[in-house]
Amino acid sequence: MRRQLADCERLGERRGWEVVERYVDDDVSAWSGKARPEYARCLDDLASGVIDGLLVYDLDRLHRQPRELEAFIDLCDRLHLTNVASVSGQIDLTTTDGRFQARILGAMAAKSSDDTSRRIQRKHEELAENGKLSGGGSRPYGYNADRLTVNPAEAEVVRECARRFLAGESIRAICSDLNDRGIVAASGGEWSPQTLRRMLYSGRIAGQREHKGEIVAPAEWDAIITTAASATIRATLDDPARRTNRSARRYLLTRVLRCGLCGEPMVARPRSGGQKRYACAKGPGLSGCGHIYLGADEAEAFVAEAVLYRLDSPEFAAILNGQQRSQPDAERYQREADEAQAQLAELADAYGNKAIGMAEWLAARKPIEARLTLARKQLAKATRTTVLDGNVGADSGLRERWQTLDLTRQQAIIKAVLDHVVVAPGRQGYNRFDASRLQPVWRV
Ligand SMILES: [Zn+2]
Repeated sequence: MRRQLADCERLGERRGWEVVERYVDDDVSAWSGKARPEYARCLDDLASGVIDGLLVYDLDRLHRQPRELEAFIDLCDRLHLTNVASVSGQIDLTTTDGRFQARILGAMAAKSSDDTSRRIQRKHEELAENGKLSGGGSRPYGYNADRLTVNPAEAEVVRECARRFLAGESIRAICSDLNDRGIVAASGGEWSPQTLRRMLYSGRIAGQREHKGEIVAPAEWDAIITTAASATIRATLDDPARRTNRSARRYLLTRVLRCGLCGEPMVARPRSGGQKRYACAKGPGLSGCGHIYLGADEAEAFVAEAVLYRLDSPEFAAILNGQQRSQPDAERYQREADEAQAQLAELADAYGNKAIGMAEWLAARKPIEARLTLARKQLAKATRTTVLDGNVGADSGLRERWQTLDLTRQQAIIKAVLDHVVVAPGRQGYNRFDASRLQPVWRV
């Protein structure tokens, strides 16, 4: 807390602002939704003119609830307050874009700070730290129904699979062998490569408790294979070279992100540890500048939230309605494109039969090609928005369904509204997610 205050004061110095007051509410009360007396005092001081600017450490943590943020924005407007600066983010609440970013972050924060979900989360963390089983879940292969004691026959299969995988056999090969021998998975059905992979990848079979994909503690149940073997298996499965064909991780924002420095599309480039990441890549066949990287998880959550937010807004529904009305059906564009293409073919025939010369051919092609390009563009535009049918407006239920949608479906919805997102360079030494780096460019 002291360091955060010092950082704020340094920022004030840099800006040439005089720091006259300090407001500190401890973190706990901010999370729990209890009153924050210092925050209230700060708003009072702003309103009464004791202070005419605000330096905060984290703008996206200043408000826990969307309505707090809205009240704050109203206050800024009323006071014509433009002097709001933050140490850890670059969101500018005085601009429309900045407010949009802040609202999206607010919505994300409200979700994660929701009291019940935090209580449940804390309970899960506690269980995990003590190596205890979590509440639900089906029986894992290799263990009895109590999920604690080892099932000797299945444990033998687990050890065999681990041995064979470490000897270089592929998951797919081991999987079909198990199925050929009639060895059933925990569900009683056949093994799939995914099930087998998940089992081998798990810390569980080495007696380790995982939480959110990370090994956090020795578990209360017995190990089937050694932790060393387990670590080697994970490292092998994580190897990006191996992953490219087999179980490529899925990247939601492929063809959406653009480098803010050179304008090239960013591509998936996981870290060596396997964490998802996007990069402006430089190298053979790649034209990027190689300077920009972006962690995938939070960026994906942010963009998805931004798109859902946009689809929910009444303004959006109005724009879309207007657009669809001014857009006659896709059929007409399809017909125009087909006609243009047929004409080009005829023309090529005529040239091939020497009915016309090269110069005539080239000259005649130009206007037809222009028509074709236009028709294709309009066609793309007209069909793009059809993916949104039934997904616009807060009552469409898209938000609830979003996580269950197939990746390509999510991408189609994103691409229907969002042309691209410009990604600004990260700031040195700043490791938290910084939404101000992402500038959405909307289509609709
Ligand atoms: Zn670049």
